[in-house]
Amino acid sequence: MAQKTIYEVFEISDRTWRGIGEIPESGYEVKNEYARFNARKKFNLNLEPVPENAECISGAIMKGLKKPIQCPNFGTQCNPEHPMGAPMVSSEGSCAAYYHYANNNLVKS
Ligand code: SF4
Repeated sequence: MAQKTIYEVFEISDRTWRGIGEIPESGYEVKNEYARFNARKKFNLNLEPVPENAECISGAIMKGLKKPIQCPNFGTQCNPEHPMGAPMVSSEGSCAAYYHYANNNLVKS
């Protein structure tokens, strides 16, 4: 029932992912018939892209090419209180998960 409702209200669209870039057909967009509920259209929002921190290697981490502990900022300049990238912002992010649950041999201060 939930999936049926999602496909009634949204259509698949291209989406830009932080650290990765645009992936065709990887996101959802509100269908025109529900445009009155689309906050971007209703409030005429023009969201500027947020520049990513050049020192953050989140793209490589999200693609599985590197692990958070391979980032030179992990646990030092970048931590959950002062995140430099999306994977450290969210508690489910790979960098935050490594920070909280990896063994104590990793640098955390
Ligand atoms: S530890 Fe921080 S700076 Fe490094 S990849 Fe993760 S979020 Fe980016």
